[in-house]
Amino acid sequence: MYVDEVLKKVNARDPDQPEFLQAVDEVFVSLADFIEENPQYQKANILERVAEPDRTFIFRVPWETDDGEVMVDRGIRVQFNNAIGPYKGGIRFHPSVDLSIVKFLGFEQIFKNALTTLPMGGAKGGSDFDPKGKSNAEVMRFCQSFMAELYKYIGPDVDVPAGDIGVGAREIGYMFGAYKRIRNEFTGVLTGKNRDWGGSHIRPEATGYGAVYFADEMLKTRGDSLDGKVCLISGSGNVAQYTAEKLIQLGAEPVTLSDSSGFIYDAEGVDEDKLAFVMELKNVRRGRIEEYAREFSSAKYTATDPTLDHNPMWAVEAACAFPSATQNEINGKDAEHMVKNGVFVISEGANMPTTPEGVEVFLEAKILYGPGKAANAGGVSVSGLEMSQNSLRLFWTRQEVDERLRGIMAAIHEQCMMYGYDEKSNYTNYVKGANVAGFKKVADAMLDQGLV
Ligand code: NDP
Repeated sequence: MYVDEVLKKVNARDPDQPEFLQAVDEVFVSLADFIEENPQYQKANILERVAEPDRTFIFRVPWETDDGEVMVDRGIRVQFNNAIGPYKGGIRFHPSVDLSIVKFLGFEQIFKNALTTLPMGGAKGGSDFDPKGKSNAEVMRFCQSFMAELYKYIGPDVDVPAGDIGVGAREIGYMFGAYKRIRNEFTGVLTGKNRDWGGSHIRPEATGYGAVYFADEMLKTRGDSLDGKVCLISGSGNVAQYTAEKLIQLGAEPVTLSDSSGFIYDAEGVDEDKLAFVMELKNVRRGRIEEYAREFSSAKYTATDPTLDHNPMWAVEAACAFPSATQNEINGKDAEHMVKNGVFVISEGANMPTTPEGVEVFLEAKILYGPGKAANAGGVSVSGLEMSQNSLRLFWTRQEVDERLRGIMAAIHEQCMMYGYDEKSNYTNYVKGANVAGFKKVADAMLDQGLV
């Protein structure tokens, strides 16, 4: 079969890229029926073409510590596909970043961006630089050195990066400053900028808010809502914080947060005041989530135990889960615990947080499972809206952007239903729905544009 043949080739070409192969496998397997029903895609060999990036840049990033030590990190930018718009996708700074991780993220980004209804191609970038424990001056020097090379490949109509793990407002500011100085132009070359100099309302909130809106849309199909629902959240960074904020606003009760060292479980729920503490802890003091349990007696902290074959956080009783940390944080066993302990709504703020075994468990249990490609597309959607505002040299109000975000999340949900709903079983497979809807838009554009 065509899908299997292409998968074999992709596997043989990059056998040392497990995350990338996992992402391609997940998309292609769910496309199999659709491809068979639509032979034009096979005829033009769209699958093999879409799995190979347009181009990849790998570069040295030298920088100096405050003590004068010379460090060398690696920078990567993968421009995957620009069939429907300029390349667009975040930059991740984390020691685990390598070509496999950047390619998996870039590949996912192609279809996610297509789902947003906005004209954006797919890309991703990053570095194995670890901003944790670095001074502001060190982070600035690193960002300047990173941009001293990256600027050659990006531009407001070419490729527009944004933030991701380890890249927030501070890093975007330093990178924007460096780009502006080198090119002597003030353009919308990066999104996630501060609102005072070109950023959009709701961009920091967008991924978390969007994941909650998506959960709300899924619940509506069962005549239900988030009101009163106990929710698990992993992570405590940008996505986790604004997921918690929106959940609280909608009357739900987040009870967990985590970082790479461990998780807190707050039986009384994370409320607005406790969330303000987390935001100060994580965004200003850059401390560890363990401190939450020292501050609030209602919470218990559990350190990460690498010898366990599961994460006890995912065994906490709840109705909804919002994985918002990193890839493959929910394995098959975690997924079984979640289903057993009452979770029936999963909206993925993170990219590919569930392993293939975990996804299988969710689909078999026929629960409401919103994969990252659809559920976390709110971030890049508001990035797209930031690009529009920059081009127009206009600012939309907070309310206007939030309304557009809500509309986009509803439109993404609708597309998932269109291709993922099965009348016989009365169940929506959002994985299939998101993959087919995103793929169709990109593949049709590729067909229109010829063999390039
Ligand atoms: P942040 O850097 O703000 O926060 C990341 C959080 O996840 C931190 O709490 C971090 O803990 C934890 N984390 C990161 N890596 C690991 C790891 N290997 N093991 C355990 N915990 C980890 O990143 P974001 O909130 O921006 O991103 C979170 C997820 O959401 C990512 O998967 C990202 O790709 C995805 N995403 C983000 C978007 C955005 O707009 N920011 C858009 C769409 C998706 P610690 O501090 O200990 O490292």
